[in-house]
Amino acid sequence: MDPSSPHYPRIDFRRLYDRFDAPVTEFDCGLLCAPHNPSGLPFCCDICQAVPVAYRQEWEYLRQNTGLWHPWQGSECPADPADPADLREQTPDHMVLLACQGPAHCQRNFRAVSCRQFPFFPYITADDRFLGLACEWEFENMCWVISHLETVTRQFRQAFIQVYDEILALWPEDYESYAGTSEQLRAEYASRGRRIPLLHRNGGYYLLSPRSERLYRVPPERLPRHGPYREDRRA
Ligand code: SF4
Ligand code: SF4
Repeated sequence: MDPSSPHYPRIDFRRLYDRFDAPVTEFDCGLLCAPHNPSGLPFCCDICQAVPVAYRQEWEYLRQNTGLWHPWQGSECPADPADPADLREQTPDHMVLLACQGPAHCQRNFRAVSCRQFPFFPYITADDRFLGLACEWEFENMCWVISHLETVTRQFRQAFIQVYDEILALWPEDYESYAGTSEQLRAEYASRGRRIPLLHRNGGYYLLSPRSERLYRVPPERLPRHGPYREDRRA
């Protein structure tokens, strides 16, 4: 169904935000990644590194309730202006690209789902099961959390699973979109000859074979670290 149709299933975003409010870690992980970003900003809140997205219904809610966001124009990163047409082409139809006023003006209450879920997306197997949380692999060398998955709180993991169980059941477009992203992740890790780190919905830590999707339960200290975080001391 067309996401702009009045008959498209509706989500109450205020209620969803209130249920998806747990921080990823118990401390401010931005303090640990920002020193590695030349701009000094946490990578996920730096428009030069990541352009946030919102669901169309979510944008309706945000637009009516806060001035935090505006539609992304492509000029928000003066050092690296982008052609909006390029990124819009890669954005699924049910999403819109946004820009916020920056971390100094963040309103936690009105963070988009894409802010709340970062650095994870729902992993969907080739045989159509939402298995757990996989990492946004393009941020591996930037995001401290991706190299310290053991610090992700149980509350965040549970909220993520509950929220995406609801969204994916209601909106087939989103399910298809994440199934496609999961397929790209498998292709990327197959080309690297590596297994994919996964925070399983059962609460465990796993490495997943990108070809067979066989799961190997591992202690969190066995999960890989990347970029500037490779040498971080294990807790
Ligand atoms: S989620 Fe990752 S990129 Fe965002 S602030 Fe935390 S460590 Fe930095
Ligand atoms: S709304 Fe807040 S959390 Fe989201 S990108 Fe902007 S500064 Fe970061």
